[in-house]
Amino acid sequence: MNLADSGILSTAMEAAGYQPVPEPEKAGVIILNTCSVREKAEVRALGRLRELSRLKRDQETCLCAIGCMAQRMGDTLIKEIPAIDFILGTERLFELPRLLAQRNGLPVVDTELGADLSWAELPPSSDNAFSVHVTISRGCNNYCAYCIVPYLRGPERHRLPKAIIEDVNHLVEKGVTEVTLVGQNVNSYESGEVSFPDLIQLVIRETDIQRIRFITSHPKDISGELISLFATEPRLMGHVHLALQSGSDRILEKMFRRYNILHFQNRIDQLRQARSDIALTTDLIVGFPTETEEEFEMTLEAVRRIHFDGAYMFRYSVRSGTWAAKNLIDDIPEADKLRRLKKLIASQKEISFEVNQEEIGRVRSVLVDGTSRRDQNVWKGKTEGNKTILFRNDDDLLGQVVPVRVLRADSWTLHGETV
Ligand code: SF4
Repeated sequence: MNLADSGILSTAMEAAGYQPVPEPEKAGVIILNTCSVREKAEVRALGRLRELSRLKRDQETCLCAIGCMAQRMGDTLIKEIPAIDFILGTERLFELPRLLAQRNGLPVVDTELGADLSWAELPPSSDNAFSVHVTISRGCNNYCAYCIVPYLRGPERHRLPKAIIEDVNHLVEKGVTEVTLVGQNVNSYESGEVSFPDLIQLVIRETDIQRIRFITSHPKDISGELISLFATEPRLMGHVHLALQSGSDRILEKMFRRYNILHFQNRIDQLRQARSDIALTTDLIVGFPTETEEEFEMTLEAVRRIHFDGAYMFRYSVRSGTWAAKNLIDDIPEADKLRRLKKLIASQKEISFEVNQEEIGRVRSVLVDGTSRRDQNVWKGKTEGNKTILFRNDDDLLGQVVPVRVLRADSWTLHGETV
């Protein structure tokens, strides 16, 4: 969602006459889009803002903190880092070009929620010119016990299908090959009679976009209708990110996730029936309040049974203002959280390695989006399953979709050759 917001703001800034520069040292306006989902993300954002504040050459250079942490901290952020000129929350960040034009040297703090939906009319852009995130909804109504997002992004609001189709058509005209439809919970998308599966079919029917993805799905809402699209729509890429969070029904209930492990497993089975080689990734939290060793083992067991392609794994950290922060004691010692996390990461790493070994010999359709960071002569792209693949080829393949045979694989990356 932050990537999508940054893309929309980029468009708005360029429309107002600003140009991107390669390094912050050269910028007249320095913008940091911040995340608040975990404590660690905020610590990193604060560190980065301190670094960036040292780049303020003069009163003209402007430092802007936007997004979730800006929303949460508001003017207390200026007390931490007085060099900041603008603090704009998740709904106000698109106002930045207008506010810059009115700048009078005084700091501006605006974290009003849900006040302005003008962002909906701005076409997105992205650093990656071939694959772009398109926001379909904002906010979340789920209020999972540990999560700060609904408080920082407000209730769910859905864009009109017509505006989304216009965005995708505009991106196709600019040469974009792939769009990712983004919402905090895409499955609950609803606009009049149009559900999320309807929206995907509209995008397929009414645009020439080659590849479509979506993030993020809530397991309680992923419908049979959506799952069946993986069997019938080849332009829908074979990857679903479905956050399990815990393998224990008791912990899932305490987290207010509103599904149990059996429901989750059923959805996984249906996805694999719809498309046998679908890539599945997940999020997992260890050390949620009261989680016992046995319950942690249930998470490990679920991970081994389901065999995810990949996972984002975290130890629980208290986010002030959430239901869990107000009502549960963070009673699992940090050392235990860390030990559980290391064990889970090691297990998932082995599973990812095994899953990727099965890719060897397969030919994947790859969107080439750049070159390897280590070797500019090696192309980098994404498979249908959203896996990074590296391969050599002397032709200029940037932005093309090419067939690549997988030759070898480690836990995180595939290596191949064009066919
Ligand atoms: S579904 Fe739950 S975890 Fe996801 S954004 Fe909403 S409250 Fe947070």
